[in-house]
Amino acid sequence: MGVELDIIPIADWFSDISNAPVIISGPCSAESYQQVVNTAKELHKTGKVNVFRAGVWKPRTRPNSFEGVGEIAFEWLKEVKEQFGFKIAVEVASREHVQIALRNHVDILWIGARTASNPFSMTELASELAGTNIPVLVKNPINPDIELWIGALERLNKAGVKKIAAIHRGFFPFEPSEFRNIPLWEVPIELRLRCPSLPIINDPSHISGDRSLLFDVAQKAMDLDFCGLMIESHCNPDNAKSDAKQQVTPADLNRLLNRLVIRDNRSADKSYKDQIDTYRKQIDEIDDRLLNLLWQRMDVVRRIGDIKNRSGVKILQLNRWESLVRKLITKGTKLGLSEVFIKKLLQLVHKESIQQQAEVMNKKED
Ligand code: PEP
Ligand code: MN
Repeated sequence: MGVELDIIPIADWFSDISNAPVIISGPCSAESYQQVVNTAKELHKTGKVNVFRAGVWKPRTRPNSFEGVGEIAFEWLKEVKEQFGFKIAVEVASREHVQIALRNHVDILWIGARTASNPFSMTELASELAGTNIPVLVKNPINPDIELWIGALERLNKAGVKKIAAIHRGFFPFEPSEFRNIPLWEVPIELRLRCPSLPIINDPSHISGDRSLLFDVAQKAMDLDFCGLMIESHCNPDNAKSDAKQQVTPADLNRLLNRLVIRDNRSADKSYKDQIDTYRKQIDEIDDRLLNLLWQRMDVVRRIGDIKNRSGVKILQLNRWESLVRKLITKGTKLGLSEVFIKKLLQLVHKESIQQQAEVMNKKED
């Protein structure tokens, strides 16, 4: 299950970046000389930003939106690098973008969600990046397809790109959500399990879509041990030409970063260890009971399948299912469980129950 990636740790990418989390900030798009330099100047005052990001070519969902200023932005970014000492990161989506970015001495490239979703593009970018030494950050694909994300990283790594990291920017929401892109934290956690050496950075801006949600997402990312944050900032966010609602002023970014609590990975404290061990034992026992109960439930489900089969009754009984869900949501929320959690859990249980009944009912007699 593990994926072999040959990765140089993020702490070894640049001699002058050793802090964790690494902070990447800057506008969604480079818009003008003044906007880029003013934003950089104010970000520099915070003393907290390592990398200045700016979109030069913007992938937009619909045509006739602002598609970036293009190559001219590199002159502005060079000035930002010289004046303020930031590393510079831009998004690339094609061979030509890579060539232009490298020619302009950009320090880091990132690959956007739309491009990371396309294996043809990833193969093209990987072949252009072969033999270079530039760090590349790969955003998650639009859909929560972890194989596609790993595939994008593998293609780069196979071409010899060893300074790679993933960026978690959330996934297209197929259901109503407060987020622009649903975080589905379980996906980057699974990525950590599959690729333990891979650094993963969180992008609260594209998850939130709204600056009011940024802090909570960033704090959660820190508590889940992400190694960096990419947060969009703009000297005049409300007038930004792209992603206006989610961008913050550098001063607000500073406040947000000051509020973040960066907790430790572990504690050497004896009483901490004793308490955690006790609770973990309890959790293990509860999980054991849960598994047994689920097994018992499926056993009953199979008996029901057998009776339905003998009586010629269909598997799906919507009224029964609806009333069961309603009853359990009322009960569960009274206990303090969230409605979303109960619904999701019951959906999973129901799906498996249908599967079990289908197996019983459609079993071929030998
Ligand atoms: C961006 O970083 O501005 C961007 C376009 O992001 P994404 O690829 O995550 O949509
Ligand atoms: Mn953006």
